Amino acid sequence: MKSLTTTFFILFSIFCAAQQTYKQTLKLMGSRFDITVVAVDSIEANKNINLAINEISRIERLISSWDKNSQTSEINRNAGINPIKVDKELFNLIERALGISKLTDGAFDISYASMDRIWKFDGSMEAMPTKQEVNASVSKVGFKNIILDKTNSTVFLKNKGMKIGFGAIGKGYAADKAKDLLISAGVTSGIINASGDMNTWGKQPSGEEWKVAITNPINKSKVFALLPITNGAVVTSGDYEKYVKFDNTRYSHIIDPRTGYPASGIISVTVFAPKAELADALATSIFVMGIDSGLDRINQLPKIECIIIDTEGNIIKSKHIKIDRS
Ligand code: ADP
Ligand code: MG
Repeated sequence: MKSLTTTFFILFSIFCAAQQTYKQTLKLMGSRFDITVVAVDSIEANKNINLAINEISRIERLISSWDKNSQTSEINRNAGINPIKVDKELFNLIERALGISKLTDGAFDISYASMDRIWKFDGSMEAMPTKQEVNASVSKVGFKNIILDKTNSTVFLKNKGMKIGFGAIGKGYAADKAKDLLISAGVTSGIINASGDMNTWGKQPSGEEWKVAITNPINKSKVFALLPITNGAVVTSGDYEKYVKFDNTRYSHIIDPRTGYPASGIISVTVFAPKAELADALATSIFVMGIDSGLDRINQLPKIECIIIDTEGNIIKSKHIKIDRS
């Protein structure tokens, strides 16, 4: 009995000692992804990281509105013309996106995408669009005109010129799917970080929780909170990376679907939720809803919390956030 216990103890020690963290950084979905897994050696780690990469690339091919071969592009090309039959997976994602539009009173709207014909955040914009241009474009936006037929698995954009895009939900969805796949492949612990959309499971090899550092964009070098994330997602959306500037005013890449103009007043939103997809979409929505309505909505949702930083650098938290100052 004693020797059995000793053997078990030795095996247990080897197992614990051998667990390490492996990380790979690469560009997927046009963004930086950091994939971290805990494994016993680099062979096992690379095999699992590759599973995640393949899964994220697969999702990109399905949902990208830049890739003209994707089902999403086909839906967009057929706006005002024909319903398009799509994979159940894409259909379900669109159905959930419409659910989030309802939850946020239309602040979140995947049909915002027709606005990307006039607001461009790739450095190519030279002048502010005219009021007429904005009005003409925003008339194409409206999630109620995305028509779903569950029986036939079709999606129809009712009006010509309509367009959908997954810029505010796709990375979160991909992070959720990659995490699920790695869990089913037996990976006990890891992080999928899609440019600030973080999704974790398990613990660090040391036994500690994974932690996320929250910084104030107005004072970037200073981390003001280090929060544990236990099998959940934390997503930060900020206007400090993608924006255009005219007459000293910054216009962010998050568009208010009701006006066609970029949302203002907030510089960063961090949302905690069980799934990255919802956290991603809600972070974007809060920019549009503004501090009061955004906070009010988050406080009504179970298991969801947020930290908002306004343009003056003020930090506003939802009800149950406890910040351990670091
Ligand atoms: P990031 O991509 O920097 O993480 P977000 O998750 O906040 O930022 O997503 C912003 C992107 O979402 C925009 O670049 C655009 O593609 C898309 N988007 C902009 N406005 C809206 C909106 N009102 N509803 C849904 N998606 C939007
Ligand atoms: Mg988002």
